[in-house]
Order: sequence, then structure tokens, then C-alpha cells
Amino acid sequence: MNKVRKIPLRKCVGCQEMKPKRELIRVVHTPDGDVLIDPTGKQNGRGAYLCPDETCLQTAQKKKSLERALKMSIPSSVYETLTVQLQGAMNH
Ligand SMILES: [Zn+2]
Repeated sequence: MNKVRKIPLRKCVGCQEMKPKRELIRVVHTPDGDVLIDPTGKQNGRGAYLCPDETCLQTAQKKKSLERALKMSIPSSVYETLTVQLQGAMNH
């Protein structure tokens, strides 16, 4: 913490750590009712942030913190899709 530059921080819903927004992956609940990973950060809807790490996604699922952040119930099939999308996002 020796730099004073202003970096927007967001909290990962998995590990609950504050991290620079750019290092996190945005998960968005779209107005259409879909839950998806938003690589652009520009998708409309309620967003939550996750580390690009499956462990954090699993933690968020276990603690239901992603559901709370997005204010919706999320079926396990959606978590499976998110896991695949997360893996894709990590392989850039
Ligand atoms: Zn995390």
C-alpha cells in the first residue's frame, strides 16, 4: 500500500477481497434474466465481481454470495456455464 494512485476497487464475491476492478471478472444479471460473464464490463444489468479463479466462483456458490449480490436465485446449471466462461476468460 505505498502507491497513492486511485484505482477503482471491487470486492470479489468469492474470497471477499478488494481488488482492482480490472483484475476481476464481472458477472452480470442482464435485464433479460440471464447470468453471464461480461468481459467488456459494459453489459447492462446488476453486476458482481469475481477473481478469475474457479475457487472464488465455488465459494460464491457455496456461500450464496453471488445470489445475494445479483439479488436472484441461481440454478447450478448457471454456475456450470459460468465456470466454463471463467475458464475461457482465463485463457486469454
Ligand atoms: Zn476472489
